[in-house]
Amino acid sequence: MNIIKNSRVAIVTGASRGIGAAITGRLANDGFAVAVNYAASSKEADAIVARLQAQGAKAIAVKADVSKADEVRRMYETTERDLGKVDVLVNNAGVLKTVALAETSDALYDQTFDINVRGTFNTLREAAKRLNDGGRIINLSSTTLALNMPGYAVYNATKAAIESFTKVFAKELRGRNITVNAVAPGPIATSLFLDGKTEEQIQTFAKMPPLQRLGQPDDIASVVAFLAGPDSGWVNGQILRANGGVA
Ligand code: NAP
Repeated sequence: MNIIKNSRVAIVTGASRGIGAAITGRLANDGFAVAVNYAASSKEADAIVARLQAQGAKAIAVKADVSKADEVRRMYETTERDLGKVDVLVNNAGVLKTVALAETSDALYDQTFDINVRGTFNTLREAAKRLNDGGRIINLSSTTLALNMPGYAVYNATKAAIESFTKVFAKELRGRNITVNAVAPGPIATSLFLDGKTEEQIQTFAKMPPLQRLGQPDDIASVVAFLAGPDSGWVNGQILRANGGVA
């Protein structure tokens, strides 16, 4: 890969590993200058930036806990200073702990809503002021919302909120030529999905889609790249399920 052009700027939240890391790699390959956001994993984020820069891309690592409005504001300010005004926002940062609703603690409820919902809200609110006209916003939902499996009540509730943000915000940005869409992945082989599961549980998920495998981060990165690029200009306010046909 040899990247020579970096005309448009993208922020990818939660990009230090997993799906977010794959998205930054793909967007950099497509010619974007990318801000690799993370909350805690600075070594991983720095390694991604070093790799992208070695390939000729413009990339920076930006620490910000998306659940904190002031940190999100600083994330935009740093990105604008170092890379330029933002064209694409990918709201990828998210957490999942599968726990039955009756056993969910107040702390877990707060953490899941703070990062998944407030985090997305914070970056969207700031995007309304800061995104270039003609920009793109891509939020991460989840196919678990369609599956209604036990243990996913709180997580699914956060993703339902994100889908609502997506559809309403697309309309609120009327006149700016900015599209707002969401991608709802099925099971993807990342630590968010794999951690805490037995091999048997993982295989059960892998057999669910008719394509008979787990998704890989690149399966989602390519969908995000489509929604971030010129070919998706007429797709707006939509939820795109990328899940191998599981639901
Ligand atoms: P992952 O491997 O656990 O990565 C999560 C990323 O989010 C990490 O880079 C983490 O960085 C970052 N993050 C966590 N809290 C943050 C915060 N407060 N502020 C900023 N960054 C934060 O997860 P993933 O599987 O790639 O998931 C990415 C997105 O896809 C999530 O929204 C998830 O809900 C969605 N999704 C995943 C699957 C799946 O099967 N994997 C399926 C459907 C949807 P730090 O370590 O620095 O905190």
